[in-house]
Amino acid sequence: MSDFDFDFDFDFDPDLDFEDMLEDQTEELYRVRDLRPDSRGLIEALVLPLRDMIVFPNMISPLFVGREGSLEAIFESQARNQTLIALTQKDPNENYPGPDSFLPVGVEMAVGDLLELPDGSRSALVQARRRVEIVEFTQLDSYLRVRARPIHEMIEMTDTLEAKMRSALKLFRRCVQLNDSWPEGFYFQARGIEYPGWLADMLVTTLGVDIAERKAFLLETSPNRRLNRLLALLAHEVRILELENEIRAETREKVDQTQREFYLREKMKVIQTELGESDMWTSDVAEQREQLAEKNLPEHARARAEKEIGRLNKIPPMSPEVGILRNYLDWILDLPWQEYTEDNLDVPNAAEILDKYHYGLPRAKERVLEYIAVKRLHLENGRQEKARQPILCFVGAPGTGKTSLGNSIAEALNRNFVRVSLGGIRDEAEIRGHRRTYIGALPGRILQTIRRAGSANPVFMLDEVDKLGYDYRGDPSSALLETLDPEQNYAFSDHYLEIPFDLSSVMFITTANTIDTIPMALLDRMEVIKFPGYIEEEKLEIADRFLIPRQVAENGLNGEGLHFSKGAMQRLIREYTLEAGVRNLEREIGRICRKIARAKVEGKEYPTLIRVDSLDRFLGPTRFFPIASEEKDEVGVATAIAWTQSGGRTMPVEVLLVEGKGRLQITGQVGDVMTESAQAALTYLKSRSKQLGIPLEKYENLDIHIHIPEGAVPKEGPSAGITLTVALASAFTGRPVRKEVGLTGEITLRGRVLPVGGVREKVVAAHRAGLKLIVIPRKNEVDLVDVPDQAREELEIIPVEYMDEVLDVALLER
Ligand code: ADP
Repeated sequence: MSDFDFDFDFDFDPDLDFEDMLEDQTEELYRVRDLRPDSRGLIEALVLPLRDMIVFPNMISPLFVGREGSLEAIFESQARNQTLIALTQKDPNENYPGPDSFLPVGVEMAVGDLLELPDGSRSALVQARRRVEIVEFTQLDSYLRVRARPIHEMIEMTDTLEAKMRSALKLFRRCVQLNDSWPEGFYFQARGIEYPGWLADMLVTTLGVDIAERKAFLLETSPNRRLNRLLALLAHEVRILELENEIRAETREKVDQTQREFYLREKMKVIQTELGESDMWTSDVAEQREQLAEKNLPEHARARAEKEIGRLNKIPPMSPEVGILRNYLDWILDLPWQEYTEDNLDVPNAAEILDKYHYGLPRAKERVLEYIAVKRLHLENGRQEKARQPILCFVGAPGTGKTSLGNSIAEALNRNFVRVSLGGIRDEAEIRGHRRTYIGALPGRILQTIRRAGSANPVFMLDEVDKLGYDYRGDPSSALLETLDPEQNYAFSDHYLEIPFDLSSVMFITTANTIDTIPMALLDRMEVIKFPGYIEEEKLEIADRFLIPRQVAENGLNGEGLHFSKGAMQRLIREYTLEAGVRNLEREIGRICRKIARAKVEGKEYPTLIRVDSLDRFLGPTRFFPIASEEKDEVGVATAIAWTQSGGRTMPVEVLLVEGKGRLQITGQVGDVMTESAQAALTYLKSRSKQLGIPLEKYENLDIHIHIPEGAVPKEGPSAGITLTVALASAFTGRPVRKEVGLTGEITLRGRVLPVGGVREKVVAAHRAGLKLIVIPRKNEVDLVDVPDQAREELEIIPVEYMDEVLDVALLER
């Protein structure tokens, strides 16, 4: 026992050599004899009452003695050189405790010499020896005596007990590691203890648990149960110590970090001052503040911008977040939130402007003038701005004037004009932007374009709505719908900007080449205005009035008196361009002008009147040959009129029969639907063999090859059905097809002719190609109102319902 050290956490005189004293007295303590049990195994001893202290068996501890009774008991035990029994009071404040005042278990202990301390109090060293259980009090005078039964703990060691001891030691070791103020010696001392009960007592003393827990420990006479209690206490202690350590580490880290940042910031200041940049940062922020103050912003946007500037001020200038924040602020500051151009709602003036730049296009122009008129009435009635904005959708082949008309509308209204192409957009984020958490995030195309417009009410053209894509990245068309929908777009939300932007004053115009591929939901909301292709006469007019003067001026040939003969223009249209619009026509005119400009500068000769035969010199040989009307009536060749993205066109269909086994082959980049309609045509023909006088064995002995030339152009759709039938019938009967006939219409197996699309373009194309007569499905007669008068007058148009009628018209007698 002598190798136990103890912390004495009370004040004492520093002159007192306590360690020496302790050594001497410990010797003393060992000499004090234990009480002998009588025949019943009981011992009788003096009581040392303790107020609120427990010394566990095998421990040595100093003890302060105050009460008279206690002193007497100690003197008496020393006189007899015998141990006494320390009993802990239930209530520490009781001064004269009686038999009922103590815990039922006490500790037998040896008491050393009393020491008088400098302040007059007394202290003695005590060594606790074993637990005893009180049986009865035998004396209640100035001091108490009891009869008690010593509790023997020499029990048999079991595996469970040993395991518990080891666990306790492990946990204790962890405590020692975690607790800086405990020397490692504590652990080694504990490891030297062999008895479970003793180990429990020793560790609970070291842990320094509160008095209630100590009392419970004292009363627990089973070493096993004491160990259980101890394990719980140790586990708790470890947890607390670990937490404590964590907290300490965190606090230290925080302090370190703050100090480090402070240090770096100071250092940066010094560097910036040395480089003369110290004010740059603050002045930048100040500048943004100033801009913000001057900018006309809606309240919600201003609040947001101010918040962001506030944040900007707080973060260190070199932080990567700075760039992101400033970019964001720039966007807020650059967008035209409340900047509006004043509308010019003068209808005659608008009409004049529209006519000034565009020939024809009566429907589109009328619609725009109506729009302006309605707006004007709303304005006069005081319902400014909130008039519902229509969404116009201009549909037509390239070069038919959609974009340029949009531009003229903006000019007529005195609004800014912007356009953006939607072709190939697959990602919703392209329209509505990426969230700022993405690196390099930006607003979507809508707001980017609005910024470019510089006003919140531009004419905004969205090109190629028919080429929007969609896939797993989200459907851009629904984002677009929100953009365009007047019910929603007053608070358009962009993922980047995060603050709603009012698009309700924007005049949106979308454009497309065809309505077939525009998403239905979008198409529903839009007002479609068709831009049909131009016929030759219209093109001549447009070229004369717009294209030639413009190209002449652009190429610096104004003073030259340059002219194009009508013949030259016709040839240019027919043989050098093949299109529904006039884009290529303008390009070719431009090429001629440039060549003349160069000739002039080089001092060479050049013509001022461009004739038919000058074209080869300037543009090289003809590019398109008039394929439409065949030279003569032929067998097995019929002319279809088809619709393509660049307008209507004529297309010969050839059928050749060769010896074979009745196989059908079709070539020339033909799609599935057209192949099927060739099969239907053949079946129909077989069913009419008798009337047409075709011997049935012909179908078995001959192979059929259908070819549609110009292999580079993909061909699809059912509208060549009747043409295929005519060509097949001609080949099988040997009756030639009338060369000036053009055909369009779908065929059923029973020989009905079904309606088709794009009739106006087809009729115009047939007219352009110089055909004399065209056959169309009867149901398409209604579409003829759109056909230019000239084409309608010069063409014979025959509406049909049955295939038999077609054959009558198209086939000549043999
Ligand atoms: P789109 O947008 O339909 O492809 P553009 O508007 O770009 O066609 O037109 C191509 C060119 O043709 C432009 O220079 C335009 O001025 C001219 N153009 C087209 N239609 C007309 C027209 N009806 N009157 C005058 N110029 C036209």
